[in-house]
Amino acid sequence: MEIKIVKTTTPKEKPAANALGFGKYFTDHMFVMDYSVEKGWHDARIIPYGPFEFEPSCMVFHYGQSIFEGLKAYKGADGGVLLYRPYENMKRMNRSNDRLCIPQIDEDFAVDAIRQLVLLDKDWIPEGEGTSLYIRPFVFGTDNALGVHPSHTYKFIVILSPVGSYYAGGLSPVKIWVESEYVRAVRGGIGAAKTAGNYAASLKAQEVAEKKGYSQVLWLDGVEQKYVEEVGAMNIFFKIGGEVVTPVLNGSILGGITRDSVIEVLRGSGYKVTERKISIDEVHEAYKNGKLEEVFGTGTAAVISPVGELCYKGEKMVINNNEIGEVSQMLYDTITGMQKGAIEDKYNFTYKI
Ligand SMILES: *Cc1c(COP(=O)(O)O)cnc(C)c1O
Repeated sequence: MEIKIVKTTTPKEKPAANALGFGKYFTDHMFVMDYSVEKGWHDARIIPYGPFEFEPSCMVFHYGQSIFEGLKAYKGADGGVLLYRPYENMKRMNRSNDRLCIPQIDEDFAVDAIRQLVLLDKDWIPEGEGTSLYIRPFVFGTDNALGVHPSHTYKFIVILSPVGSYYAGGLSPVKIWVESEYVRAVRGGIGAAKTAGNYAASLKAQEVAEKKGYSQVLWLDGVEQKYVEEVGAMNIFFKIGGEVVTPVLNGSILGGITRDSVIEVLRGSGYKVTERKISIDEVHEAYKNGKLEEVFGTGTAAVISPVGELCYKGEKMVINNNEIGEVSQMLYDTITGMQKGAIEDKYNFTYKI
């Protein structure tokens, strides 16, 4: 399928590098493609970024049949443009599509659409330390009907946003609230899909945690509230007595691509990494015994996010003196170095466009 391109006649002014933040500015163009039962995916186009019109009965507003992805483009050291593991994102997109009864999208075609869009707006890729062009593909049902069933029509859209460091202070430890009342997802539910509903479920706890001075919530399993799951937009790792442990993907945790990269890089660097069930009591026990050496989150937005404090049922666990751990720093340097083409990528993670 060919992609029709309509360029903007009114390019926008680009934001200053120090004003970027996360997801506040959008580039001049977007990719759009429609689905109908009769035509399949059709009418692929890159057009000026701008609003859509939807009827109030549009299905996505009522039942949340929508999924999304998140990945980044970087300006390489040699001026070329690099994506990071885009096929992994498109594979995961189709797993999410499958869970939400949304039709599959050709992964090669989707990567090529992203490639063409990013190249058209490549002047928007910021170059400062910690900055990148965030790519947000998303798909949603567009039938105008209130009956509860999968939509028959969909839109697949990709928008681009130049972003700064995820946290204003760059790589610095965050404080995390271990949630013991609300849950995010249960096995058999939609926790393993990258879908809007999981975020809707997370907002209340996030709001409460923020009021208490914590920037993120660590979710426990939805049945016993005993086992650690993830941080809602990040997966979580613990270094306990020299071994790195992360919760095994159990069906209610989102399988992060950064999580996967971290496991490979750690193993490639000689660390022992175990994917298994880990209870919050075990984390607390390790803390008391002085064996909880590092805790960090992993996700596309922040890449690596060292955790300086965990608060569980009123007890504060300060980790590694609230400083960035050795493993967190190594992972951040290695992964961001590969993403920018500054260090050798022996894992084949980067994709030059
Ligand atoms: C996107 C996401 C992550 C992180 O995945 P990456 O592919 O590493 O960006 C973790 N948890 C949830 C719920 C997510 O939506």
